[in-house]
Amino acid sequence: MENTPHIAIFPSPGMGHLIPLVQFAKRFISQHKFTATLIVPTDGPLVKAQKTFLDALPAGIAYVVLPPVNLDDLPSNVNIETQIAITVARSLPSLRDVFKSLLATKKLVALVVDLFGTDAFDVANEFKVSPYIFFPSTAMSLSFFLHLPKLDEAESCEYRDLSGPIQLPGCIPIHGRDLLDPVQDRKNDAYKWILHHTKRYRLAEGIMVNSFKDLEEGAIKALQEESDIPPVYPVGPLIQIDSSSVADGSECLRWLDNQPRGSVLFISFGSGGTLSSDQINELALGLEMSEQRFLWVVRSPNNEAANANFFNVESQKDPFDFLPKGFLERTNGNGLVVPSWAPQAQILRHHSTGGFLTHCGWNSILETVVNGIPLIAWPLYAEQKMNAVMLSEGLKVALRPQVDENGLVGRAKIAKVVKCLMEGEEGKRLRNRMRDLKDAAAKVLSDGGSSTKSMAELAGKWNKN
Ligand code: UDP
Repeated sequence: MENTPHIAIFPSPGMGHLIPLVQFAKRFISQHKFTATLIVPTDGPLVKAQKTFLDALPAGIAYVVLPPVNLDDLPSNVNIETQIAITVARSLPSLRDVFKSLLATKKLVALVVDLFGTDAFDVANEFKVSPYIFFPSTAMSLSFFLHLPKLDEAESCEYRDLSGPIQLPGCIPIHGRDLLDPVQDRKNDAYKWILHHTKRYRLAEGIMVNSFKDLEEGAIKALQEESDIPPVYPVGPLIQIDSSSVADGSECLRWLDNQPRGSVLFISFGSGGTLSSDQINELALGLEMSEQRFLWVVRSPNNEAANANFFNVESQKDPFDFLPKGFLERTNGNGLVVPSWAPQAQILRHHSTGGFLTHCGWNSILETVVNGIPLIAWPLYAEQKMNAVMLSEGLKVALRPQVDENGLVGRAKIAKVVKCLMEGEEGKRLRNRMRDLKDAAAKVLSDGGSSTKSMAELAGKWNKN
């Protein structure tokens, strides 16, 4: 039996969940004498991005891929959250097997799951291992999750039909329509799964959140003052340093090397975001009208779902076929368009990048914050609208163009907002506020910083297990 304390980490499916959990593990292990095993549930073979990412894990972090669960009985239009929750639930028997073999050789002190993984607590409890949640999003979303069971009892209508905004302790008021997608239809299974998991959040012995005080002061303070919830540990911003590259990203970086400092707007909709073909057209023409430099990661359109590529980041068709005629030729020199995937972490760190049009996935936001880059908020799915409200109305580090009656952001509006961010007075103010957050982020992660202290507190607790 090894004596080094070991943590089991159970990420729910999706790169957006895997990446931050691994960042947590990497940082924790680099600062404290622990080892970890990632136990990865699947519903099919790993996609290339996952495989590359897992194969690059550092010493001290092993991984086990669980046998794929069968989801053939689910309808083809099943929500992503339902698919994730069912994959997790059906993986419990194989998780139990891995627990047994880990316990035979390792001193297993904690199980860490993410937002949809609380069913795994049953396995942890069976083996007397402490259950923890790593919440990869905002303290505001965590607060919403912790308060959802009460809200569910108190309100019978759809949340978007509530007469006023919801006031979570210490947070900016949020309209029901801006809440995360899976709570927009309370009859849908996705909502039932979310409710199921949020009811189990209180069973955790602690919740780590990928945020920090200066970013969400009110929300974090309120969570830490609540007496009937598990202790909350702000450990962020935890971000990936190097992008896991599915495609070779050196072309982007070389192109950026030749652009003026702070001049390029980076445009990306995360690992799975897609736009409709009309919206791709408007965005292209809007960028062209703005006359600003840009680097755009384009995916083939999907007219039904904004998260169509969640489980497979690579476009199914050639995305360039969907750009307006002549666009690539006309913008050649001023803009670079790359298909499907780009090394985002390196791009955001590059001195030529001066703005980011983002779908507001939380990893993307944190990667932007540590680099002090102002934003255009273009939320698509999950909790991204909540993030957009916080960034544009709360922290005032993002501009948020609104969609018109056809559900589109038109080219003129896009050109205006891009110009405003990249060369307007408002853009300057946003940039200055982002720089303050960048300094604060560096401080919380330094020796003696608040996130470093949270990690040390956890290590102290887990060492006693
Ligand atoms: N990412 C990347 N290249 C891309 C798109 C995304 O490296 O072309 C990375 C990005 O840096 C971030 C993650 O994938 O770390 C996306 O996570 P986020 O929470 O922003 O969005 P999600 O993909 O979960 O919607």
